[in-house]
Amino acid sequence: VKNEGGAGYRFYAPDMNEAVIRRIEFEHRLRAALQAHQLELHYQPIHRLSDGLPLLGFEALLRWPQGDGRYIPPDQFIPIAEESDLIEHLGLWVCQQVARQSRLWREQGLQPTTEAWRIGINLSARQFDRADLVDRLASCFAQEGLGLDGVTFEITEGAMMRDPQRAEQQLQTLRSHGAQCAVDDFGTGYSSLSYLRHFAIDHLKIDKSFVHALSPHPDDLAIISAAIGLAHQLGHQTVAEGVETVEQLACLQRLGCDAVQGYLLSRPMQAAEVPGYLERVARG
Ligand code: C2E
Ligand code: CA
Ligand code: CA
Ligand code: CA
Repeated sequence: VKNEGGAGYRFYAPDMNEAVIRRIEFEHRLRAALQAHQLELHYQPIHRLSDGLPLLGFEALLRWPQGDGRYIPPDQFIPIAEESDLIEHLGLWVCQQVARQSRLWREQGLQPTTEAWRIGINLSARQFDRADLVDRLASCFAQEGLGLDGVTFEITEGAMMRDPQRAEQQLQTLRSHGAQCAVDDFGTGYSSLSYLRHFAIDHLKIDKSFVHALSPHPDDLAIISAAIGLAHQLGHQTVAEGVETVEQLACLQRLGCDAVQGYLLSRPMQAAEVPGYLERVARG
């Protein structure tokens, strides 16, 4: 047992392997970074795939800056936060941050209405499972004088399938608050498509792995084309993520995809860069 002093008691059994110890330390650092307000949200635009590519909104994406200009990507720390209650604290922080930012942008006249554009927030499986989820989200936004009507919540297929009945309820409650809902990473997890019919969702986000696999080859087109067709038949809009090339964009347009997000249009940007981006978009 090592006593590191202060608040930091750590118990290391002698046979605990290195990987486990590193993981515990990593979680500690993440908790500390959250408490010290060192995490950031970046915003990546989503555009409608029609003439002039009008802006639909931004997805908020967590970043953990390391002080040397580099970031630890969320794929490396979200899964660890997911293993404990840390994810709920993180999720709440994200929500508070977006609510605050949203109020500021509205005060600056940058987001005149929720019809102008919306902000996407990722919800983790563990957050989504909580019975008090919607109350917590709503009170976050209420603190800034806002409702949930300017928000699109993104929930992975996997998170929805953990308990489909519960998911159905949560989605309905979110939508009764005016929020929109999206199935994230569509196509990566569970093959059961029938549940989509029952869920109150607005958008399907087609995972970037499908977009990156796009080639003129008919087999590659078949999967994504089927996904878009299915979504439309069920009354959902499709958003393709990870669009990096003009060829992918053109292909998605031909397939009737509704919206796109990716480095081709813009990388995720800091909140401070959003006003400039909005200006450029407005100028066309
Ligand atoms: P995601 O929700 O699927 O987010 C889309 C990811 O694709 C983001 O990765 C984004 O930066 C990346 N991306 C966007 N355009 C392109 C492109 O053209 N090419 C490529 N290669 N990638 C592109 P990021 O920001 O690293 O986030 C990774 C994942 O971490 C997210 O995947 C999401 O699952 C999770 N995440 C991020 N922020 C949050 C959050 O606030 N809460 C929760 N629960 N999860 C989050
Ligand atoms: Ca997402
Ligand atoms: Ca996604
Ligand atoms: Ca993903």
